[in-house]
Amino acid sequence: MNTFPVRRTTRQVNVGPVHLGSDAPIVVQAMTNTDTADAQATASQVESLARAGAELVRITVNSHEAAAQVARIRELLDRHNVNVPLVGDFHFNGHRLLAAYPDCAQALAKYRINPGNVGKGERRDEQFCQMIEVACRYDKPVRIGVNWGSLDPDLLARLMDTNAALPAPLPADAVMREALVVSALENAGRAMEVGLPADRIVLSAKVSHVQDLITIYRHLAARCDFPLHLGLTEAGMGTKGIVASTAALAVLLQEGIGDTLRMSLTPEPGGTRAREVQVAQQLLQTMGLRAFSPQVVACPGCGRTTSVFFQELAQRIEAFLSAQTPVWRSRYPGVERLHVAVMGCVVNGPGESRLADIGISLPGAGEHPSAPVYMDGERVMTLKGATIAEDFIRLLEAYVAARYGHDEQALHVLLSAQAPIAQQR
Ligand code: SF4
Repeated sequence: MNTFPVRRTTRQVNVGPVHLGSDAPIVVQAMTNTDTADAQATASQVESLARAGAELVRITVNSHEAAAQVARIRELLDRHNVNVPLVGDFHFNGHRLLAAYPDCAQALAKYRINPGNVGKGERRDEQFCQMIEVACRYDKPVRIGVNWGSLDPDLLARLMDTNAALPAPLPADAVMREALVVSALENAGRAMEVGLPADRIVLSAKVSHVQDLITIYRHLAARCDFPLHLGLTEAGMGTKGIVASTAALAVLLQEGIGDTLRMSLTPEPGGTRAREVQVAQQLLQTMGLRAFSPQVVACPGCGRTTSVFFQELAQRIEAFLSAQTPVWRSRYPGVERLHVAVMGCVVNGPGESRLADIGISLPGAGEHPSAPVYMDGERVMTLKGATIAEDFIRLLEAYVAARYGHDEQALHVLLSAQAPIAQQR
């Protein structure tokens, strides 16, 4: 693993069995898009997100019908041994729902409160405090999550007025960024005045532009010690959403900013909601911050790999690893750190394969398929012929069993048969 950036927070917030901040691993979150009033559909989506790797799942609690089903959703998940903590997302009427549905308040492991959406004027403070009082009563942590799209207009007006009176006023967008930071910090202070301990508070300040997000979180991180939830809000669909979120979050994570994150990706029609979990995991793993599943190092291919043989080989090995990882995880602790190289030709193939735990390097186009295999830096055999993919997968399985399961027999048999494997082709 790479060197970790120095983590900034000293505080740790416990959300059920999940820890946020300090030296805890950066936590992957996801959010459902089902109607929470449909308990069965919501529990089912929470379960699929949790099985994909989400460690906290947020559900919207936007109506009496939704609040009435939260405890039932928890019950359905418990029945399926899915113990992922549920976070309730409240806007506008959260103070009423939390008061009216104590079983909802109890079943949720954390409340997300958007201070820009809890009411106006004096009602705003009163209703915000009512929600914090519920959190204190049930001993629940709270994420104070401010958002560009619902920034408290009174606060923004106050900061704009103050700025206008300065001898050299800042540009309006700088004041808006400052307003997000101030909103998060002032509301955290207000929550503590009500009685919520500092180690029950997580902050977020989400916007939809990469450079704004980076600037805002740097300011937030410099001015408080609360664990921070990262996310580029409304990141968008497909490649754009993934790239924009990754660009913003990678910069912050590299600076040690961020204790939990969510990729706010819009799913393709009919696409899986679990995509946001996979992308978040991949970001953390490629940065060397966490390990979730074996990784394949594959070269992009070039004019030296004009046939599809190389792409097919890389794709088959990726598919095999994806299918095997859930099984391997329980059987072979540590397998999530496995590195497999699948390389197209002799230019970089042998070098990358030696650096991986196990690697295969094809010879390039126009040559007979003949692929040296490397394990732990040593060339152990050469595969030839039409079944190179199958043979390599068998070697991969045997390598994993030997290295992570201390069962060396299958690997020993395959390596002893090196000559026959190579000559049969
Ligand atoms: S390893 Fe070979 S095939 Fe792969 S990108 Fe480099 S030169 Fe091309």
